[in-house]
Amino acid sequence: MAPTITALQYYGPKDVRLEQVPSRSCRPDEVRVQIAYCGICGSDIHEYLGGPIFSPPAGEKNPWTGERLPITLGHEMSGTIVEVGPSVSDPKLKIGARVAVNPAWNDRHHGVDPCTACSLGMPNICKRYASYGLSAAGGGLASEIVVKHFACIPLPDSVSLKVGALMEPLAVAWHCIRISGFKEGQTALILGAGPIGLAILMLLRVWGAKRVVISELTASRKQMAKDLGASLVVDPTESVTPKNGIDPVVEATQAAVQADGVDVAFDCTGLQTTLDTVLAAVRPGGTIFNVAIHEKPLVLNLNDVTLTEKRLTGGICYTDIDFRGLIQALESGDVPAESLITSVAKLEDVIEKGLLELIRNKAAHVKILIQPNQVRLAKL
Ligand SMILES: [Zn+2]
Repeated sequence: MAPTITALQYYGPKDVRLEQVPSRSCRPDEVRVQIAYCGICGSDIHEYLGGPIFSPPAGEKNPWTGERLPITLGHEMSGTIVEVGPSVSDPKLKIGARVAVNPAWNDRHHGVDPCTACSLGMPNICKRYASYGLSAAGGGLASEIVVKHFACIPLPDSVSLKVGALMEPLAVAWHCIRISGFKEGQTALILGAGPIGLAILMLLRVWGAKRVVISELTASRKQMAKDLGASLVVDPTESVTPKNGIDPVVEATQAAVQADGVDVAFDCTGLQTTLDTVLAAVRPGGTIFNVAIHEKPLVLNLNDVTLTEKRLTGGICYTDIDFRGLIQALESGDVPAESLITSVAKLEDVIEKGLLELIRNKAAHVKILIQPNQVRLAKL
């Protein structure tokens, strides 16, 4: 009988099944990774509740990878290499090596000529973008995955497999900071202390931020932002008394940085109110950086950008450059990444204690990790 693995299969909205599926063969340029940990992401929840968004529509195949539903979910993974394809020559990728996986697919993975984005060094916005765990074969919410060898990021001894599974969301935050042009000694405002907002807060310290203000409603996340060293945590519904119609977050931010606004503001929430806030909270010539994915268009008066020479930009995902920078930061030991983990559950509990727990009890969590291959403790 062909070997099988356990995998969380996505069939469509509110239809996920933990099943035994055939184990894929390891091609010459691939490695097989036994999954140690896999995080659950907001996009997994969006797929579950209202998808397919990134996954192929029912009855269709992804045009670049040829994959169809069901798709194995999970794209925030770490693990140990258990098989190496014969053409893989990287000495760091040997059996037993601990790795994180960059799940993003671009033209290098497809083996075709690079598109404009790829040739400009922006494979994260490749026209043929796909991802393990959403639109390419295999995912991290499974006992193992077979991936291209160049998708693996070897983990230094000082970086745990748990932190390895956080590298994907941390790389999103690293990319946003890098692309925003943020410089040492500058100030920042972050709207929303969800996983990415908190990751940006944590990593801005590595980038030498002078002061970071964060705006958040949820009590537990406000506390976490304080614990992570935010200069000021503002609650947009209370905070200071609005005067003269000034946005209380803007007022508190300006007071905290003792300037006419911050150098860079990251909008991780994506509402009309948060766009209005970041536009007003950035100093003249500063940068408004959109992190959030929007469900509908917002109203923007471009005079707010033109008359103040503020820059309005955004970014998504990450490239290998971000993973390399991030791993150096993690190796330094100055990033308390594990503090983002609010729960660890077994693969057999992934639906109840993973997906559904994040939906029902969102305020209690930042990052839930799933541990598909638990170390079997010897019976006492
Ligand atoms: Zn491309």
